Amino acid sequence: MLITVQDINHSFLIGRKGKESNVPVLKNISFSVKQGEIVSIVGRSGSGKSTLLHILAGFLKPDSGEIVVKDTVTSVFNEQQSAQFRLENYGFIFQNFQLMPGLTAFENVELPLKLKGMNRHQRKDKVQQLMKHVGLQSVQDHYPNELSGGQQQRVSIARALITDPPIIFADEPTGSLDSETEQEVLELIQTLNDTRDITFVIITHDDEVAQRADRMYRMHDGILTEEGVPNAV
Ligand code: ADP
Ligand code: MG
Repeated sequence: MLITVQDINHSFLIGRKGKESNVPVLKNISFSVKQGEIVSIVGRSGSGKSTLLHILAGFLKPDSGEIVVKDTVTSVFNEQQSAQFRLENYGFIFQNFQLMPGLTAFENVELPLKLKGMNRHQRKDKVQQLMKHVGLQSVQDHYPNELSGGQQQRVSIARALITDPPIIFADEPTGSLDSETEQEVLELIQTLNDTRDITFVIITHDDEVAQRADRMYRMHDGILTEEGVPNAV
């Protein structure tokens, strides 16, 4: 197992001071992800999917439960340890791309390598090679607002990939794309899984997108259950 999640619980304190109530959002969640799998988590808006992803990635501490990634217990990390582990192990893809508007496509993809301290020459080679691989060479000097939605999502996928993370978390990666572009992005994810053995955890409200995964879990009011997918043999 690459990721093992055991009995995660999480509540949010909501409401006015003195009248707060504790609202449980994740209830006894357990699941696992094998090396090289594409696993999807599907569920309606508000069911707790993004909260689970934030906890998996260490942005948020669970109230209880344990997360083990690559034989390391990550749920006990402090903020600095979480940040370091993320930089070494995770890439992220979001619905709204979250590209830096003041940086070109090339510079957006380059940014994580700068954060890791790689030198300029090595960065340039690596970014150029990857941009070619995902079909972005011709637009590498464009700013995000000069790119289509599909191109922006390709840039954000390249940015997620540039540090060679073993795991990519995607939160509604096709949520703001038309259906044709959605297919392209899903095919790119499949290709990256096949050719680079990257493990994907994809969160979506869309059953069709979820069913493209190797395995699928459904989130309903903070409870997670596994369901079969049509393409599983
Ligand atoms: P999903 O991603 O499935 O749409 P979320 O995980 O974003 O669901 O939200 C699950 C529930 O938790 C929702 O009811 C939402 O309002 C609540 N919630 C999410 N983040 C917070 C927060 N920071 N404070 C309070 N409630 C939150
Ligand atoms: Mg969400």
